[in-house]
Amino acid sequence: MSVLITEECINCEACESECPVAAILGEDNPKNPFDDRYYVKPESCVECVGHADEPRCAEACPTEGAIVWDMPYQPEYEEYFSSGNDEGRYAIRVHKKKGMMLPSVKSQPFLEDISMEAREAHENVGDF
Ligand code: SF4
Ligand code: SF4
Repeated sequence: MSVLITEECINCEACESECPVAAILGEDNPKNPFDDRYYVKPESCVECVGHADEPRCAEACPTEGAIVWDMPYQPEYEEYFSSGNDEGRYAIRVHKKKGMMLPSVKSQPFLEDISMEAREAHENVGDF
């Protein structure tokens, strides 16, 4: 990751079609671990690096606090995403041959100018 969709989400659909890598799932998608909000697949989100200057989902989102920063999808955060998956905060894809697509299997680009403090605090993406 990435960015994270919170319980502030009002299921308006505005973000889903904006994602250049189809990382956003609607609340009725069976792969979404939540049934009351949209969900960003951390193993797919590239923070729009190479596609746009800012996360396009957050630009489209009308709801303050619905899309917040999360940790980079990098091997140093393997445990963070693995335990988050165990706790149901994520539903990381399991590949037939490679197993769970954790950061050590495939990491993703991230915006390096976003501080780790802002990410840990899950600050609103729209504020950056
Ligand atoms: S930050 Fe970009 S790549 Fe990530 S979910 Fe949002 S639109 Fe998709
Ligand atoms: S644009 Fe924002 S409020 Fe609308 S579905 Fe996406 S995260 Fe939820």
